[in-house]
Amino acid sequence: MRIRVTPFRALRVAFAALWTDLSPSATESEGHRNTLRRQLRQLAQSWPFALLVALAAPLQVAWTGWQQARPGVMLVALACAAVLALFGTLLLLAIRRGITRRWSLHGKVRTAMALGAVGGAALLLLVFATAQLSPGPARLAGFVTAFGAMIVLVIALYPVRAATLGFGAGLLVTLGAQDGIGIGLGIGTVLLLALTSSTYRLALFERSAVAQRDLDHAQGRMATRLVAEFETHSSGWFWQTNSEGEVTYLTDKVARELDTPDAPAIGAPLSRLFRMDSALPETERTIAFHLSSRTAFSNYSVRPASRAKLERWWSMSGRPIFDEDGIFIGFVGSGSDLTERRRADAEITRLALFDGLTGLANRQRLRLALDQMLAQPASPQRMTSLFLLDLDRFKAVNDTLGHQMGDALLKQVAQRLQRGIGEAGLVGRLGGDEFQVIMPGQADREKLAELARRVIFDLSQPYSIEGSAISIGCSIGIAIAPQDGGDSETLIRNADLALYAAKGDGRGIHRFFRDELLVGAQSRKQLEDDLRQALVGNQFYLAYQPVVDTRSERIVGYEALLRWAHPTRGLVSPAEFVPVAEDCGLIETIGEWVLRTACTEAAGWPGDVRVAVNVSPIQFANPVLPSLVTSALAKSGIAPHRLELEITEGVFLDESAASEQMFKTLKGCGVRLALDDFGTGYSSLGYLKKAPFDKIKIDQSFVKGATIPGNRNAAIIRAIVSLADALGMETTAEGVENRDEITLIRDLGCSHIQGFVYGKPARAADVLQQLTIGGGMATATGYQITRNPRTAMLRSARIEAGAVSGEVRIRNISSTGAMIEGIEVDDGTTDLDVLIELLEDQMFPAKLRWAADGRAGLEFAETFNLERLAAPSVPQAARKAG
Ligand code: C2E
Ligand code: MG
Ligand code: MG
Repeated sequence: MRIRVTPFRALRVAFAALWTDLSPSATESEGHRNTLRRQLRQLAQSWPFALLVALAAPLQVAWTGWQQARPGVMLVALACAAVLALFGTLLLLAIRRGITRRWSLHGKVRTAMALGAVGGAALLLLVFATAQLSPGPARLAGFVTAFGAMIVLVIALYPVRAATLGFGAGLLVTLGAQDGIGIGLGIGTVLLLALTSSTYRLALFERSAVAQRDLDHAQGRMATRLVAEFETHSSGWFWQTNSEGEVTYLTDKVARELDTPDAPAIGAPLSRLFRMDSALPETERTIAFHLSSRTAFSNYSVRPASRAKLERWWSMSGRPIFDEDGIFIGFVGSGSDLTERRRADAEITRLALFDGLTGLANRQRLRLALDQMLAQPASPQRMTSLFLLDLDRFKAVNDTLGHQMGDALLKQVAQRLQRGIGEAGLVGRLGGDEFQVIMPGQADREKLAELARRVIFDLSQPYSIEGSAISIGCSIGIAIAPQDGGDSETLIRNADLALYAAKGDGRGIHRFFRDELLVGAQSRKQLEDDLRQALVGNQFYLAYQPVVDTRSERIVGYEALLRWAHPTRGLVSPAEFVPVAEDCGLIETIGEWVLRTACTEAAGWPGDVRVAVNVSPIQFANPVLPSLVTSALAKSGIAPHRLELEITEGVFLDESAASEQMFKTLKGCGVRLALDDFGTGYSSLGYLKKAPFDKIKIDQSFVKGATIPGNRNAAIIRAIVSLADALGMETTAEGVENRDEITLIRDLGCSHIQGFVYGKPARAADVLQQLTIGGGMATATGYQITRNPRTAMLRSARIEAGAVSGEVRIRNISSTGAMIEGIEVDDGTTDLDVLIELLEDQMFPAKLRWAADGRAGLEFAETFNLERLAAPSVPQAARKAG
C-alpha cells in the first residue's frame, strides 16, 4: 500500500492524534486502552529518541552548570540523567519486548510507583541543583526544563507527539531566552523535523489501522451473521457470564426457554438456570463448582433447573476468561441441543425392548426378563410359568383381508391378552402371531389351566375391525420352571413343544409340557435325519393305485403314492413322514423326485392311462413348480394331459394372487388339476369358482359308512357330485373298499372310483402287468352284502393252496362265498385258487378275491347249498379241536 501524505493531512492527523491522546474520556474506553497500548509500543520502538527527550532536561542543567563553573550542579544533573537513562532504557526495553504485558496489574503498579519515585527523586534533585545556579535565565531554564521533563514523565505513557511537543516547547523557551534565537531556531527546526517524521509515521500507522478496522468491521459483520445463522438454524447456542457467574449473554432461543415470568434468564446466575442431568455419573462436578473454581468444563449434559417438566437436554461447555491484565472476568461457552438425540436414544431403547406394533414387550425383553427370573436363587419366585400362544387362522385373515387388517387384529389381540393377564405376568409378542406370557411365582397347574382357558376364550371372541367381524382362535403351550426347564432356552423349547401338541390336538386348546412330547420331538428329529438319508439311499419307491371309470370299469389312470422302505422301521406311511418332510423343507426335493419318477414310469404305460401325483402346498407355493412340471414332462415324453396334479385344500390357506397365478400357469402347461381330500379341510366353496380343477376327489371319510342305512354321507356325496357336475368337473370317490360301495357310488353319480376294491397301491412292474393282462379293465374284489345274505358263523376249516395247507376260521358264509380269518397270505393278494373244507373231508374249489389283515374273501367256484351245513356231519378239524 502506498501512502501519500499531504501537509494538510499530516497536520490534521497530528492534531487528531493529539486530541485523542489527551482526551480525558478516551482513557476510560476500551478503544482508548488499545490506542494507548499501541502508542506505548510505538514509543518503545522509537526509544532512543524518547530517551533523548527524557534526558534533555538534566543534560541542559548539566551544561549550564558546566558553563557557570558549578561542578556540583553538573554532577547532580548528570547523575539524574544517568538514572533516567538507565530506568528509561530498562522500561522501554521491557515494553518493547512485551515483557510488561505479562506482568500482573499489581506488578505494573509497583513498577510504575518505583519508577515514579526514582524519577521524582531524580527530578527533585535536579530542581535543587538548578536552584544552585546563578539566577536569571539559567535558573529559569532549569525550571522550565524540569517542568518540561515532568510533562514528559506525566504523559510519557501517552503519546510521543505530546511529549515531543511539550518538551520541545519548554526547551525552545529556555534556549530562546538563554542563547539567542539562532540556537533556538536550530533546535526548533530539529524538533519540527522530528515532529513531522513522527506524524508521518503516525499517518502510515493510522492508514493501516483504518484498513485494519474496515477489515475488522467486515469480519465482525460476517462473524455476527454466521453466529446469528448458527444460533437460529442449528442446535447450537452461546453463553457468557460476568465474574459473578451471572448470565450476560445467552442465545435467544435458549433464553426464551429458560425465562420465567418473574426471572429472566439474562442476569440470572448460570448455576441456577441449569442443572446436571442426574442420569450421568459426573453429577458431583456441578456447574457451580466449575464457576467457583474457574475451571473449564466440556460436554456436560444439562437440563433446565427450574422447569423440571420441560423436555430439554443440552450439552454444555465453558471456560473462564480473563482480561489483558489477567483479571477473571467471567465464563464464556457454547451449548448444543441434545433433546432430539435423547428422544432418538429413548426411541431406540423402546424399539429394542418393545414390539413396535402392539407396544408389548418384544422377544428381546421377554428373554431378558425370563433370564432374570430364572437366575434368581431358589424361592417361590423361581417357579416361573411360560405361556406360548399362537393364533389359529391368523394367516388366513392376514392373507385375505390384507396386512393392515392383520395388524389391527394383532393390536386388539394384544390388548385383550394384556387385559386378561393383568398384573399376573409379563405379556409380549415374539413376532407374527406368536405371543408369550411370563408368569413369575405361578406354578399351580389348575390355576394355569383355568387362566389358559380364559385367555383362549377371550381371544376367540369375534373382533370388529373396520366394520367387519373377524374370528380367530388361539392355542397355548405351557411350561413351568424349574421342572420343565431351569434355563430360558429349555423352558421356551418345552413350551413350544406343548404348543405344537396343542395345535396337533385340534387347536383352540392349551397343553402342558410332558416328557413324552420331548421324546416325540426327538423321534421326529430322528425321522427327519432318516429322511435325508432316504433320498440319497434310494429308500423311496412309488406305488400306484388304479383310478377306475365307474361305468365302464376301465382303468383310466393311477395315483402315484410315495412309499418309504426304511431299513429298520420297515414301511413308513406317507401320512407319517410327509408332514415331517414338509416341516423340514425336504418335501421340495422329495416331491421333485416323485414327479419325475411318476412321469418316467408312466411313460411305459399303454394308451392314455394317466398318472396322478400328489403335490404338497409347500411345493405349490414355490414358483419353480411349473418349470419342474414341464421339465418332467419333457424328460419322460408323456403328454401333459396324462399328468394330473393332486392338490389339497391346504393350498387355499395361502390364498393370494400368487396361488391364483400358479393355477393359471399350471393349467397353461396343459396338465390336469385335481382337488384332493375334498371336504376334510375348512372347505370354502368360494375357491372352486376360481381354481380351474378338472376333478374333485371326495375324501374317503365320506365313503366310509355311506352304505349304512340312515348315514348322511351318501347325501353329502350326492351334493358334491352335483356341485362338480355343475362346474364341469369329474369326481373320484376315494377309499371304496367293497362292491356295495361301488354300487352306491355309481348310483350317486361319481365318475370315478379309487379304492382297495379295485386294488391296493402296487409297484410299477405290477401296474404294467395289470394293464397288459387285464386289458386295462379293473376287477372289483370284496364282498357284496346285498346280493347274498351271509350267515354268520365261527368254525374252523382246512384250506389248501397248491401244496400249502393250513387251518382257518370261517366268519360268515353265503351260497357264493365266505369270509375267513387267520389266513397267512400277503395283503392285497387276489385271485388265488384254493380248496376249502366246507363239509367234513370235502374240499370245495374257491378263488381268494381279497386279503387284508389276516382276513380274506373267498368266491366259491360253484354255488354252495347252505342247507348242507345243517347236516349232522362236522368237519374233521372241528372234531379234532373238540
Ligand atoms: P391321498 O392322496 O388321499 O391318497 C390316498 C390314500 O388313501 C393312500 O394312502 C391310499 O393308500 C389310501 N387308500 C386308497 N384306497 C383306500 C381304501 O380303499 N381304503 C383305505 N383305508 N385307504 C385307501 P397312503 O398311500 O398312505 O397316502 C396317504 C397320504 O399321503 C395321501 O393321501 C397323500 O396325501 C400323501 N401322499 C402320498 N404320497 C405322496 C406324495 O408323493 N407326495 C405328497 N405330497 N403326499 C403324498
Ligand atoms: Mg392323493
Ligand atoms: Mg385323498
